[in-house]
Amino acid sequence: MDSEKSGAARRVGFVSHEQYYWHQSIVAVGGDIEPGAELETPTPRRRLLNLLTKSGLLSLTHPLQPLMLEREDLLRAHGADYIDAFERLSAAAGGELGDFAGFGPGSFDIAVLSAGGAAEAVRAVTAGEVDTAYALVRPPGHHAERDRARGYCLLANLPIAILKARADQGLGRVAVVDWDVHHGNGTQSIFYDDPDVLAVSLHQERLYPHDSGMITETGTGDAVGTTVNLPLPAGSGLGAYEYAFAKVVEPALRAFRPDLIAVACGFDAGGLDPNGRMALPAKAFGTLTGRLLQLADELCDGRLVLAQEGGYSALHVPFCGAQTLSALLGVSDLVTDPFAEMENSPEQPLAVHQKAAVDAARQAACDSGAVTEGRS
Ligand SMILES: [Zn+2]
Repeated sequence: MDSEKSGAARRVGFVSHEQYYWHQSIVAVGGDIEPGAELETPTPRRRLLNLLTKSGLLSLTHPLQPLMLEREDLLRAHGADYIDAFERLSAAAGGELGDFAGFGPGSFDIAVLSAGGAAEAVRAVTAGEVDTAYALVRPPGHHAERDRARGYCLLANLPIAILKARADQGLGRVAVVDWDVHHGNGTQSIFYDDPDVLAVSLHQERLYPHDSGMITETGTGDAVGTTVNLPLPAGSGLGAYEYAFAKVVEPALRAFRPDLIAVACGFDAGGLDPNGRMALPAKAFGTLTGRLLQLADELCDGRLVLAQEGGYSALHVPFCGAQTLSALLGVSDLVTDPFAEMENSPEQPLAVHQKAAVDAARQAACDSGAVTEGRS
């Protein structure tokens, strides 16, 4: 543990870009749906950025600019036909290249810039220019598969970033912890046969995609044991997430010994989110960030990168993000959470059925070799 990096002494990089808020996500249109009520809009992220600015948190970070990615950077995670089709539709009227992932004109360039934001965060941390970094990017990336857009995700931001740092900087083993309320199916699928990336996803069971994220999905070939899924029952609060960290996430990361930890950082497990049914208060995201900081100090010289994924409550996301940045910066008093009473809600203690779900995931992780500590 490097005590030099504790608290406010940590250099925290922060990357965002105005273009991220100009991307048009087009999903809920047609039929009896009146236009104008999209679930995925720029508003929650823009309000998060505004709160970081207003509170002074942003001024404590080190500003980073998105990397300008080349076609070869995208092709490490995606097929050429998919990239070509995306670029062609974007240059016309927009389109749809999967499910729940429609986009407007010009979204290709913005998606490349979004992946470039994640790539810069990983690059700067890998290079030691900053200790940790937060990429407030849009569109998100964790559902995007090699040849298919899914769930508002068009390009696989973190996989593109990790594969670029591996190629350009010799980055070694990376652990991705995905706490977005939905399964990180894209990240999982891109690295499913890659023994040098550990993909851990905590998500509401069978939410989206409803047919992936099971505990039986553990990787393939010599990468068995480098995919770990933690499907949690709807209604889980901080108690369930802390138990999952203690029993599965932290032991799996210790066994894997990453050189960098990356977080697919969705805020849609927050208690006010319209797209998920979990119960996390904003403070929980600070708590989980703090646990990963400790683990990063223990395992990889504090190298931790967070990239924005989902989060659909315009009211709650800003506070979830502020708690996360506060934890990274080691400050605690710059933002007052108006929804803090959620911390005392009856959903917060670990419930019996939630414990059973985590215990089953732990057993699967022990069987695959992902968890070795105290293995039964
Ligand atoms: Zn999500």
